[in-house]
Amino acid sequence: MKPLALFGGTFDPIHIGHLSVAWEASELLDAEVRLMPASVPPHRSAPTATAEQRVEMLRAALRGQSRLTLDTRELDRSGPSYTIDTLEELREEFGDRPLVLLLGADAFAGLRSWQRWRDLFDVTHIGVINRPGVDTFRSVELERAVAPRRTDDPSVVRSQPAGRVIELTVTPLEISATRIRELLAAGRDPRYLLPAGLFDDPSLLAPYRELSSP
Ligand code: ATP
Repeated sequence: MKPLALFGGTFDPIHIGHLSVAWEASELLDAEVRLMPASVPPHRSAPTATAEQRVEMLRAALRGQSRLTLDTRELDRSGPSYTIDTLEELREEFGDRPLVLLLGADAFAGLRSWQRWRDLFDVTHIGVINRPGVDTFRSVELERAVAPRRTDDPSVVRSQPAGRVIELTVTPLEISATRIRELLAAGRDPRYLLPAGLFDDPSLLAPYRELSSP
């Protein structure tokens, strides 16, 4: 059975970095990938765009292909979205199907601050995606927890439901939503850092452009 890979984030806004690495991860693992927007991320300040606006952007970005899909379950939950709760729910839903939580190397480096992070390995594999230009320092405790779980063989991930960690080497793209918000707020037009669909409807990027208005 094809693994189901989950790629969570604020997607504020979704950018070419997210799409490209999710696409390549899907190829490397031969997995279906779901993009899963978070409502109130426990680790950071509130997003600039509302949940509805971020979903609209995701829909526009994902149009025209079917390998990457959208899963809005975390937006339907009230309060902070803890990844472990979501993964446990998905595990119930999908039985023994391999699940892979995709994390950029920066997000993976911060894993120890996540709610019940060690329990994640009971319900999911983790796919770590290289990301340039960000802090990816890993603590000794994290490395120790991960060492016995490492594999570099996607077929191992496909043959077990959970518990392994695989580094996924994708084309490095130094793009962040923070930088895109800065460019839009400064009145710039970061056209080729964002999916083309986001420019079809001017209201989609309005929340960021308005940041510069008095
Ligand atoms: P922000 O700048 O607002 O923090 P971001 O660009 O990091 O946003 P998020 O929505 O916070 O995007 O990230 C969701 C996931 O995507 C995280 O696991 C993050 O590491 C990963 N990610 C984002 N951009 C890239 C990229 N260019 N390359 C690899 N992984 C990425």
